[in-house]
Amino acid sequence: MSEEAVLREAICRFGRSIFERGLTSGSSGNISARLSDGRWVATPTNSSLGWLDPARLSLMEAGGKLISGDPPTKELPLHLALYETRHGAGAIVHLHSTHSVAVSMLQDIDAQNVLPPLTAYYLMRVGRTALVPYYRPGDPAVADAIRGLAGRYSSVLLSNHGPVVSGKDLEAAVYATEELEDTAKLHLLLRGLNPRLLTRDQVRDLVEHFRLDEAIAGDGDGAPHDHHH
Ligand SMILES: [Zn+2]
Repeated sequence: MSEEAVLREAICRFGRSIFERGLTSGSSGNISARLSDGRWVATPTNSSLGWLDPARLSLMEAGGKLISGDPPTKELPLHLALYETRHGAGAIVHLHSTHSVAVSMLQDIDAQNVLPPLTAYYLMRVGRTALVPYYRPGDPAVADAIRGLAGRYSSVLLSNHGPVVSGKDLEAAVYATEELEDTAKLHLLLRGLNPRLLTRDQVRDLVEHFRLDEAIAGDGDGAPHDHHH
């Protein structure tokens, strides 16, 4: 099978898995991924991730012009903005996953780091997630807000809407989105229970051992950031 055929199948398989586990419902959520020649494939507008047809996915030129398939998701500008600024991103997943959306509505979260360091896997797969303010769906300003983060985050949470998560490839982007959702769920379960977070030293150890982005070590125990050594 060609690279493109493999990618089309993978988008449909991951899409179905995401949908069947209730991580996004109806026709919400969309996925895009790059081919090695710069073209990319995205899920079509008004399509459900549960019932994607590999032959109808939108195939686009590097600049976003449709080559074949159905018209792409209307949320494509979110993807474009993250690809533009996050070099090395090979795929992006956007969902309306319940717990992540719930966290986006909390009044007291840090917009530079929406979740505390609860687990090693959150730090390893996601790192840090930034919060973007609420915008009406389709408002081009949301893409500008993502660009404004200048690629410092692989993962962005749109207020009262949902996460937009990039990864080096499709599998990494899907796993990071799932890890974000699971961590959001843990955070909500533990609210008010005074959980034991990873300590600054434990976070520093993960960053060094797994060569994670230095910025992750900024606030190891959930305190305000900028504690570089
Ligand atoms: Zn959306």
